Amino acid sequence: MVIYQSVISFNPPRRGPFGVIRLVWSPMLCPECKKSDTKVLDSRNEIRFVRRRRECLRCKFRFTTYERIEPPKIQVIKRSGAVEDYQRGKVANGIYLAFEKRPFGTSEIEGIINDIEFEITRHKDKMVHSKQIGDIIIERLKEADEVAYLRFLSVYKSFGSARKFQREAEKLNK
Ligand SMILES: [Zn+2]
Repeated sequence: MVIYQSVISFNPPRRGPFGVIRLVWSPMLCPECKKSDTKVLDSRNEIRFVRRRRECLRCKFRFTTYERIEPPKIQVIKRSGAVEDYQRGKVANGIYLAFEKRPFGTSEIEGIINDIEFEITRHKDKMVHSKQIGDIIIERLKEADEVAYLRFLSVYKSFGSARKFQREAEKLNK
């Protein structure tokens, strides 16, 4: 079974209530031996995810997963009025560009993207304006890193959308 699984870093959490989280589409694998036969010891519903304590049937390694069956289904109303499905990748691209060469690891950046995605989907509305998404991103980056925040803000404000931001940032990198 393929589920939306978050892999928890086993280092002490550094930021956020869930520590360092990375979301990937993957079968549920034991972090030690990479086998998929695990047993659920405990299951608890939390705000963002179902938290499960698992034990590997093969090597007996115990680990915690935060799971979600599928990414949020939500639609984005663009400035042009066009509507499209929300895509995590689009949000993520702009954020990775803002954090380029900043001292943040992938798992930290993924954690920030998770926070942003949670805010976007929190109200359970099925539709969200692209401007609201931009504002949520700006708020979260402001907390996380001044440079990433200013980069995103300057490009977002002058180009009007994360998509244009991405194109412009890509040009700069060439
Ligand atoms: Zn194992």
